[in-house]
Amino acid sequence: MELWVTEYQTPFLGLTCKVKATLRNEKTPFQHLAVVDTEQFGKMLLLDGMVMTTESDEYVYHEMITQIALNSHPHPENVLIIGGGDGGALREVVRHPKVKKGTLVEIDDRVVQAARDFFPDLACSFDDAKADVVIDDGVKFVQEHENFFDVILVDSTEPVGPAVELFSANFYRNVYNALKEDGILVVQSESPFYNKDVIQMAFKGIKSIFPITKLYLASIPTYPSGLWSFTVGSKKYDPEVVNYVRDDAELKYYSAEVHKAAFKLPPFVKKIIAGDE
Ligand code: SAM
Repeated sequence: MELWVTEYQTPFLGLTCKVKATLRNEKTPFQHLAVVDTEQFGKMLLLDGMVMTTESDEYVYHEMITQIALNSHPHPENVLIIGGGDGGALREVVRHPKVKKGTLVEIDDRVVQAARDFFPDLACSFDDAKADVVIDDGVKFVQEHENFFDVILVDSTEPVGPAVELFSANFYRNVYNALKEDGILVVQSESPFYNKDVIQMAFKGIKSIFPITKLYLASIPTYPSGLWSFTVGSKKYDPEVVNYVRDDAELKYYSAEVHKAAFKLPPFVKKIIAGDE
């Protein structure tokens, strides 16, 4: 019997993958968690039926949510990741030579365990000497820190369940306060094709608090529409300026040229962030 998994990216559209085996299927205290081994993308982590990461294309998202801030900030020493329980963003953070500490705050320890069990290339970050993995609500965690982090990355699920508050202006204000006076915030802000409301909510919220607010894009095959956005709030530095790039072969999507090109937005995306769409 053939086995397929479908992520419904909108009520009218899905991504369907042929499955070799189901590796985990559980209800955690926060969400439904599944790990399947797919023919096309290798192992895939899904939360509440939404694709979080896959072995074959995880590098795009994890390089692009981290390198833009880490390479435009002159001294990204103390970095906070909210969400990111698969470990991929933390792997990129602790690999960066200028980073002294990467703190990951993930609300669901079953996600961390699933990464350890099935995604060793991502979970390797959890035991890095520069890493600190905290199981907590990121909303609460940022309220407990002031003038503390150089970079904060919000690698959250879609604005549902425990992630709803992570897209609020109140949360962005608390992030602003948790950042040092020259800090940078990056949030994953969903698809320009299917989620312009989420992009407008994130962009407007961040722009109401940060002096510099920009959006950049990346192509991610397993995310809805294949085009993904990230919104940057910066207290001082222009996130388009590349100060430094790791010169190791591990980077497969990001480069200094991609860094600059990612901010070149198509007219329809410019209209979304201008609120004209
Ligand atoms: N790259 C994925 C994407 O773009 O959808 C996100 C990956 S990561 C698995 C998302 C994580 O955010 C999940 O593990 C989820 O448990 C976590 N999360 C959601 N709300 C949270 C909160 N309030 N505090 C900390 N982690 C949270």
